[in-house]
Amino acid sequence: MSDVLRDFDLIVIGGGSGGLAGAFRAAEHGARVALLEPHLLGGTCVNVGCVPKKAMWLAADVAGRLRMARDLGFDVGEAPALDWPTFIAHRQRYIANIHDSYRRRLDAAGIVVAPMRARFIDARTVECMDGVRLSAGNILIATGGHPLRPPLPGAELGGVSDDFFQWTAAPERVAIVGGGYIAVELAGLLQALGSHVDLLVRGRLLDGFDGELVDQLAEDYRHAGVHLQLGYHLSAVERDGEGVRLRDTGGALSERYDRLLFATGRRANTASLDLEAAGVLVDADGYVQVDVRHSTNVEGIHAVGDVTADPALTPVAIAAARRLMDRLYGGASALLDQRDIPTVVFSHPPIGQVGLTEAQARERHGDQVHVYRAGFRPMLHALANSPQRSLFKLICIGDERHVVGIHLMGEAADEILQGFAVALKRGISLEDLRDTIAIHPTSAEEVVLMR
Ligand code: FAD
Repeated sequence: MSDVLRDFDLIVIGGGSGGLAGAFRAAEHGARVALLEPHLLGGTCVNVGCVPKKAMWLAADVAGRLRMARDLGFDVGEAPALDWPTFIAHRQRYIANIHDSYRRRLDAAGIVVAPMRARFIDARTVECMDGVRLSAGNILIATGGHPLRPPLPGAELGGVSDDFFQWTAAPERVAIVGGGYIAVELAGLLQALGSHVDLLVRGRLLDGFDGELVDQLAEDYRHAGVHLQLGYHLSAVERDGEGVRLRDTGGALSERYDRLLFATGRRANTASLDLEAAGVLVDADGYVQVDVRHSTNVEGIHAVGDVTADPALTPVAIAAARRLMDRLYGGASALLDQRDIPTVVFSHPPIGQVGLTEAQARERHGDQVHVYRAGFRPMLHALANSPQRSLFKLICIGDERHVVGIHLMGEAADEILQGFAVALKRGISLEDLRDTIAIHPTSAEEVVLMR
């Protein structure tokens, strides 16, 4: 135990998306801030999430385009393979630049950074691993989450998304267990980079996304060669030489895979925090309980990001942290508006959605719901005779056709959605979209041409 006690206005526990955003915003308002982060700055998103994932997605996208280029007459030879070490060097250089930029900004903002894990001593005090104690009027918990393996025999033989980012080559055969966006993203990019991928899903694929778009994506995946098995119930993993085999609950043993990845859920990082010492409550799923102000049950202790039950997205963690600091130190009162959060699955092709799905709209608005669809082959795919299709959907309600949901599956959906998300949030009708002159020839024009 140490008698060193340093006093701050704000202690931020965790230097990921939410923690960094909160620390920077509080410092801008003049608060004296300490930030504790035992690992790499940037947390999940920068190191084992959005950023390296998008880099791999881009590599896979290039691979797909090279294949199409060959079909279109370019002299690019047979399916050019990716040299992973070369690409990973580029990826990690990009990430190292982000780390450097954070370090410079933290220094410039006068934020005290301790490269250490922290735990609560009481509601005002945290202790760093070296025994130094820090106290503050406000403490922000932004410790994120970690991937889980299912509690099954042999599960330790499989990896999780964190492990995927250590890979230095595409496995020849890989099984991915899970049906959420991480499973779908990893399956798509590995297939495009040359692996034979089996995607094994217990329930629905991409629960929470529009069913019709998901069905179209499943078809696009099958065309691309992903072997998609729905209703698969894993019971055990067995070693086979350097690889594994999977046993389902019916006893059937799979073929041999070189690698196995679990994308079967995540858990909030609270175990190391000693939350009981401060009296902070967690919910039944292990998330730190917060109110609409992102404050916990203990005065002066707040939480944002994946450690709470908020949607696990980087921009949500950042926005929550900034709003919180604006209220604590900037005299503002605005809360985070969690309605109509746009989100993208970086599948091949991507899915983007904002607002209600058709199913949610029908549940709330019954036969007031009107659905408009555009199914088409994007021009490049039509030219290259590739079967990949796009499907765009608008969900509208009432006679005025108020737009409550926009769902895009296809080339560039990730880039197209952002602007339409602004429009949806401001409130638009189908007529407003139709009144907008199309940009031709694009995929995006389909959104304003739907009849
Ligand atoms: P994190 O970024 O996880 O940061 C938490 C930090 O707290 C970590 O650095 C950790 O080391 C630190 N910490 C933990 N315990 C302690 C302690 N006791 N003391 C001090 N520090 C501690 N989101 C998107 O918006 N778009 C995407 O495309 C996307 N893709 C993703 C892909 C994958 C594979 C994964 C796993 C996630 C993805 N996400 C994506 C989600 C996104 O990464 C998270 O929502 C975001 O990182 C959450 O930020 P956070 O600040 O809550 O936590």
